Amino acid sequence: MISLAEFGSLFSALNSKKEHLFRSWLFEPGMGYNDWQLWWPSPREKRPRPHEGIDFFCYEDQLGKLHNLGTSLVPAPCGGTVVALCADFLGQSLFLLPEQPAEQESLYVLAHISPHLGLGQSVRQGDVVGSVAAAQGLIPAHLHVSCLQGRWRDLPLQLSWPALHGQRQLQFVRPFLE
Ligand SMILES: [Zn+2]
Repeated sequence: MISLAEFGSLFSALNSKKEHLFRSWLFEPGMGYNDWQLWWPSPREKRPRPHEGIDFFCYEDQLGKLHNLGTSLVPAPCGGTVVALCADFLGQSLFLLPEQPAEQESLYVLAHISPHLGLGQSVRQGDVVGSVAAAQGLIPAHLHVSCLQGRWRDLPLQLSWPALHGQRQLQFVRPFLE
């Protein structure tokens, strides 16, 4: 698992010129792992369940310039293979199975994107998996990343958000080191 800063560096390597290299992510209350409130503008509502991952919306570069993600390219946080795709409320969610020992069962979800990959395709860390999906109404364009642990191959349903919320075999965990 990589850190938030390492993921930011992968992000700016794909999207920024050299002078705009990543310094730090900007987060608002509600964007973090396990947060209970929504972060997009008024009215701030309570989520139906704690936030299953981290939302990325904006980063600051080394010159202090802010970069909204908009329709930026999204890097793979690890090398892996696409094992499922499903619709979400802003675009699609891509399920990435990391290259890992067979006894480890983690799975990344990159959500609210337009995927550039199909089922069964593999990527290396930092390769493009898609682009951030456009905003809809009050919901700004953003990338959501989740990490799941558990025996996902045993799930009776195809991987999707409704399937994830209706099961107990998989647990959401913090998707990046702080
Ligand atoms: Zn989210």
